[in-house]
Amino acid sequence: MLYVSTRNHGEKVTASQAILKGLADDGGLFVPEQIPKLDVPVSQLADMAYQETAYEVMKLFFTDFTETELKKCIQNAYDAKFDTEEIAPLKKAGDAYFLELFHGATIAFKDMALSILPHLMIAAARKNQVEREIVILTATSGDTGKAALAGFADVEGTKIIVFYPKDGVSPIQQKQMVTQKGDNTFVVGINGNFDQAQTGVKEMFSDQALAKEMAAAGYQFSSANSINIGRLVPQIVYYVYAYAKLIHSGGLSDGEPMNVVVPTGNFGNILAAFYAKNMGLPIGKLICASNENKVLYDFFTTGTYDRNREFVLTSSPSMDILISSNLERLIYRITGDNAEQNLAFMKSLQEKGRYEITDSMQRQLSDFYGNYASEEETGAAIQRIYAESNYIIDTHTAVAAAVYKKYREETGDHTKTVIASTASPYKFTRSVMAAIDGNYGSKPDFGLVDELESLSGVKVPKAIEEIRTAPVRHKAVCEVDKMQAVVKEFLGVQ
Ligand SMILES: *Cc1c(COP(=O)(O)O)cnc(C)c1O
Repeated sequence: MLYVSTRNHGEKVTASQAILKGLADDGGLFVPEQIPKLDVPVSQLADMAYQETAYEVMKLFFTDFTETELKKCIQNAYDAKFDTEEIAPLKKAGDAYFLELFHGATIAFKDMALSILPHLMIAAARKNQVEREIVILTATSGDTGKAALAGFADVEGTKIIVFYPKDGVSPIQQKQMVTQKGDNTFVVGINGNFDQAQTGVKEMFSDQALAKEMAAAGYQFSSANSINIGRLVPQIVYYVYAYAKLIHSGGLSDGEPMNVVVPTGNFGNILAAFYAKNMGLPIGKLICASNENKVLYDFFTTGTYDRNREFVLTSSPSMDILISSNLERLIYRITGDNAEQNLAFMKSLQEKGRYEITDSMQRQLSDFYGNYASEEETGAAIQRIYAESNYIIDTHTAVAAAVYKKYREETGDHTKTVIASTASPYKFTRSVMAAIDGNYGSKPDFGLVDELESLSGVKVPKAIEEIRTAPVRHKAVCEVDKMQAVVKEFLGVQ
């Protein structure tokens, strides 16, 4: 299986090369030449552990990895870092199943892919005779940075440097990052916003002189960004796993369709569900849930993608996005894998901030349903599900639950449905508690954590317990124009 860029078919690379590169040289995203079909029957998957399911999915995409290499990556990723052997448990509440993707080290769904990416990268580096140490550079608005730090901490042959806006993340997110352990981890607050952090990192990636200096010192930059195919493929696994578990428990009968609802930002998670469907998994509708940054809702309803609008700060910050990078892979697909046509759309997005797809492309989107939830509807979903089922969900998952309610009311479709539950409510305690009862507002963060524990009956996760008392290990702060100097200093490059 080879991978091509969504913008040009000239370059074909292996899976391991695609993982190492992250982005194609032409700025496109790597996609497999064809989407492979699952080659084990669901009845057999039904009895498999998460790790076994992971192997059955990943072996079809990462074909230049040996069985031993791939299984080792999987064992190193999905181990006791997760607080349940099920890795991704399903909880029924009301009229849906919640697929809890937040049992990893940082209690958000980014762990599902970022706990395996470092191992895939190291195996890929060996395979391609990369001798230099890999330095992961990341800018984060909160969740990705911590999940990448946790994934790469103490992984031999790697270092990771994370930049975050010093005054632009939640107190819990900041504490999670600055207490990160691991001798190969570096965390820096910048006196600037997320966009400036992101721009600074992008400049370092494209700086050829810097790359040469790094190479001479034995280093090479790489990215843990969500467009890396090494993050997308591991996300397909849990949709296959969820379906198989519902077969196992009798919640579904073999072949019966399952709808999925995904709270969406960069379009990575829902794209993985789309790939799962194309692999032959009986998924019915792919329900794309947005918050008030509803670019995707507008896209699905009108066929026009338009980022020219006000950016709204919401209580589901990981979905506050106006350019959903992974959507490019879907656009490419519905052009009939036409790189040239896709490139024209992406150019238009870059130059005008918008593009309009053709009618025939739009007809191929019938598997998708898009809608959005306002802040009020999001809070109401948290409150309703707590009142009805005594189950507390986070703000991102609540966006999905609110959209699912609209979908049912609009369509009357009662197909069994799985909602991707992307963060623990403990990660967004303040907003969650405020939704349940407005009177919680004035308490300090950790006081609210204890309240949440007594309301939900769910034990405070280790990830939160640890940061209560963990010492701060990273105190570095820098100006935006000093990011490169800081990287050199960390790496001892003069
Ligand atoms: C990143 C994130 C999302 C959005 O996922 P995408 O793959 O970017 O669409 C949703 N919820 C949480 C909690 C996240 O961290």
